[in-house]
Amino acid sequence: MDRIPSFSKNHDLLEQGLHKSMEMHGVTTWDLRFKKPNAGDYITPSALHTIEHILATVLRNSDKKDDVIYFGPMGCRTGFYLLTVNLDYAQVLELLKQCFLVALTFKEVPGSRREECGNYLEHDLDGALKEIGAYLEILRLI
Ligand SMILES: [Zn+2]
Repeated sequence: MDRIPSFSKNHDLLEQGLHKSMEMHGVTTWDLRFKKPNAGDYITPSALHTIEHILATVLRNSDKKDDVIYFGPMGCRTGFYLLTVNLDYAQVLELLKQCFLVALTFKEVPGSRREECGNYLEHDLDGALKEIGAYLEILRLI
């Protein structure tokens, strides 16, 4: 099988931040890199899960909700992918700054009832908010 594009980039050179990963069929994939790859520090599975719930909710309620196709975690637990249409780097950066600020106000995990989630006990709101705050600081330095 062919090696897919996301495995072809040298992950040891990837830094924390917001990176444009690829563009296909009018859809842009953004690499929201919370952690430096292979540096020993990863988002815990429960915080990763909670960040997914919160940010998916906030992004889909934002003023750019119609341009958001998907938001979900990387299996390596160093960040998330955001898929959008019609948005350039500056617009995505602004959107993320707004949404991460809103995300910090959450007092409970949206969609975390048993009937709403496939692993409803695996959540960590405090851990998620800590990671969200840390990534917002990274975004503010861009
Ligand atoms: Zn879930």
